[in-house]
Amino acid sequence: MSALPLTYIPNLILRNRTSRVTTVSPAINKLIDDMIETMHVENGVGIAANQVDSNLRIAYIEIPEGIDEDDVVIPSLSYVMINPTIIKRIGIRIVDEGCLSVPGFRGSLQRSVKVTVKALDREGKEYRIKGENLLAQALEHEIDHLNGVVYIDRMESVADLENILETEETDKSFMKGDPNNVWRLRKIAQKIERRL
Ligand SMILES: [Zn+2]
Repeated sequence: MSALPLTYIPNLILRNRTSRVTTVSPAINKLIDDMIETMHVENGVGIAANQVDSNLRIAYIEIPEGIDEDDVVIPSLSYVMINPTIIKRIGIRIVDEGCLSVPGFRGSLQRSVKVTVKALDREGKEYRIKGENLLAQALEHEIDHLNGVVYIDRMESVADLENILETEETDKSFMKGDPNNVWRLRKIAQKIERRL
C-alpha cells in the first residue's frame, strides 16, 4: 500500500465521468489499497479514484464510529464500491460539506436523507448499501465525483463557500497564504457553473 498524490480543482480529471471497471484484476485491487491508504493519510471519510488521478469508477468510504446530529450512535462502516450507482434517493436535507480536492473550504448544500447504492465489491460481486444521513451524504459525494461533479457545483451560490484555512490545518492547500484564495476559488467555481 502506498499513499498517492491527490488531485485538486481545477484539475480536469475531477470534471470527467469515470469509466466502468470491466474486470476486478489484481491491478484494480492494488489501486483500491492505495486509495484506502491515501484516504487514511489525508484523514478523509471517502475517496474517489479520480481524486488520485485514475479515471476508473471506484470509490471507498470509511466512516469512523460517531454520533450523528440526532445523537444516534453510528458504528464504523467501510465500503469498497466498484461501478457504484445510486438507485434510490429519499428526502432532502441541508448539510455542511468539504472535500479533499477543495482544501481549505466548506460549503452548505442539499443532500438526500437516504440513498440506496448498487455496486460491486472487491470480489466483483454485486451488493447494495442503504445509507442514511452522513453515510448517504458520503455516498452521494463520492458517486458525484465519479460522475465528474464536485460539491461546490451543488451549492446554491459559491459566494457562500467558507474559507476555513484559519481554523484548520491545510498544509497541502494549493491556495495557502494567498489573500486572493476565496476570490480565485469563486472564479473557478463560476466557470464550472457556466459549463453545467
Ligand atoms: Zn470529495
